[in-house]
Amino acid sequence: MAITLHLGDITADDRAEAIVNAANSSLLRGGGVDGAIHDAAGPALLEECRLIGGCPTGEVRVTGAGRLGARCIIHAVGPVFAGGARGESELLGSCYHAAIEAAAAHGCATVALPAISTGAYGYPLDGAAAVAVGAVDAAMRAHDTVREARFWLFDERAYGAFTVALEALGTTPTRAGAGGASRRAS
Ligand code: ADP
Repeated sequence: MAITLHLGDITADDRAEAIVNAANSSLLRGGGVDGAIHDAAGPALLEECRLIGGCPTGEVRVTGAGRLGARCIIHAVGPVFAGGARGESELLGSCYHAAIEAAAAHGCATVALPAISTGAYGYPLDGAAAVAVGAVDAAMRAHDTVREARFWLFDERAYGAFTVALEALGTTPTRAGAGGASRRAS
């Protein structure tokens, strides 16, 4: 299994079978990653999200991927950061765990993920990165049909925070070509 880091726009991933979206609890189109995914997927995605009717914080819902090359989109609702004492880290970890579980349930071995909650929802980057890689690593050990988690980081600061978090998991990330870093474990 591998966790790899990529700099740029998650909708440019042409290898992922599932793309995780940082959605809001209405599941209706928002800004940031959500807006970019809706733009790339096309209007059918919003119709499908409307039919689902919402999703609690810390959980995920799965839809088709519209015009995107992936097989499905996993909409994960991260917490709004409110100081850190309102269960934000557990809710963020729960999103990532549920996302990997959903990818496994849908037979997706390669998953692209954004840095959930670190934009409009205000979760501090370093803490969010540690929760994200820790939860994804644990979830992939529990669901070993998911072989690669590809984190897409939108700027160098986010990329740096995830690099540090990956190193803290125990293995020094190695450059994986084309701007990627990865940590591989058996
Ligand atoms: P949230 O509401 O969960 O905070 P945002 O979409 O506002 O979600 O931001 C989450 C993270 O995704 C931020 O770090 C932001 O810089 C980043 N981001 C925004 N657009 C994209 C994109 N197209 N691809 C990858 N990451 C993105």
